[in-house]
Amino acid sequence: MSADKGVVVVGSANADLVVRVSRHPAPGETVLGSDLEVHPGGKGANQAVAAARLGARVAFVGRVGRDAHGDLLVGTLEREGVDCSELGREQGAPTGVALIVVGGKGENAIVVSPGANSRVTGPEAGEAVRRIPEAGVVSAQLEIPMEAVLAAARAAEGVGARFLLNPSPPEGLLDEDFAREVLPFCDPLVVNEHEARLLARGSRQGSAAEGGQGPPEAGVQEPPEAGAQEPPEAGVQDLAGRLLGLGVRSAVVTLGERGALVAEGDRRVRIPGVPVRAVDTTGAGDAFTGALAWRLCLAPDLVAAAHWAVRVGAAAVLGHGAQSSYPRAEELPHEPG
Ligand code: ATP
Repeated sequence: MSADKGVVVVGSANADLVVRVSRHPAPGETVLGSDLEVHPGGKGANQAVAAARLGARVAFVGRVGRDAHGDLLVGTLEREGVDCSELGREQGAPTGVALIVVGGKGENAIVVSPGANSRVTGPEAGEAVRRIPEAGVVSAQLEIPMEAVLAAARAAEGVGARFLLNPSPPEGLLDEDFAREVLPFCDPLVVNEHEARLLARGSRQGSAAEGGQGPPEAGVQEPPEAGAQEPPEAGVQDLAGRLLGLGVRSAVVTLGERGALVAEGDRRVRIPGVPVRAVDTTGAGDAFTGALAWRLCLAPDLVAAAHWAVRVGAAAVLGHGAQSSYPRAEELPHEPG
C-alpha cells in the first residue's frame, strides 16, 4: 500500500458452487439440477472486492487451499487490485466452499464448508495486520475463527486503525467471552436488521451486554411476521440504541431498501434508501460494508460514509450475483432529494 490509508479485510474467501433446481430435494431424495456455476465469494472477499472496485487500497488477510478454487479466488482478488501478500495457501485443508442450491422460486439452501478459512490463527492475523502499512480501517466478519477476529481488532488498535466488525453469521457474538472482548473495539459494528434483533435479544437476556448501559427495553420491536407491516421507525431507533448498549463505539444497521441507521453516542441518523428496481439483493450487505470501510479511510465521518454506502448497496442490487454486481464509483445512483 502507498501513503493513502487503506482497508485491511481479515476474513473469509469461499468458492460459491451454485446449482439451480425446480424444487429442493427432501432428505434422502435426489433431484436433477442445472449446470454447476462457480463464483468467487465469502464475506471477506466480497467486501474486499466491493471496496477495491470503488478505488480503495485493499489488502486481504485470510487463507485458501492449494487447489483450483484457491487459484480462482486469489486470481479474482488480484485482478481487482487487492493485495494478497497476506492471503495464505493452506496445505492441510481445501478452500472454503458454499454449496448453494437455488429453488424454483429463488429460495436458497446453503451449506458452508469453511475449509482453509477455519485455519486462520490469532497470531497470524494479528501479525499480518501489523505488517500491512497504512491501514486506515481493519474490517472483519465472523466466517473465520473468533481468535483471529479478536487478534485483528487488537492489532488494529495497535496500529491506529479503526476496527469495523460485520458480525455475520451473528451467532458467534452470542458467545459471551468473545462478545465482551471484541465489542469495545467495534467502531462501527455493522449489522442488518435481522442480526441487530438477534444481538439485541441476546443482550436482553443479559449475555453480551453485561456491564453495558443498555437502553430501556420498551419500544424494541420483535421481528415482523411474514406479511406483517414494517416495524415503526421508533423501533429501529431503539434497536440501534440497544446495540450501543452492547458496548460498541458506534453501530450501523442496514435496512434493505429502506437504507440504514447510524448510531453513535446520542446521535441517531436515518439514511433513506435509494429507490431502484432491484434484480438480486445477494451480497448487498457486503457491498455496503466494503464501501463503508473505504469511506472511513478517507474521512472519519460515519454518517457521510453511510450515505455513500447506501448508494453502493443500491447499485449492487441492480445486477445478479454478489461480486459481479458491485459498482465502480462512477456507476453509483444519486441519493433521493
Ligand atoms: P444481503 O444479505 O442480501 O447481502 P443484508 O441483509 O446484509 O444483505 P441489507 O440491509 O438487505 O443487507 O442491504 C444492505 C444495503 O443494500 C442497504 O442498506 C441498501 O443500501 C442496499 N439495498 C438492499 N436492498 C435494496 C433494495 N431493494 N433497494 C435499494 N437498496 C437496497
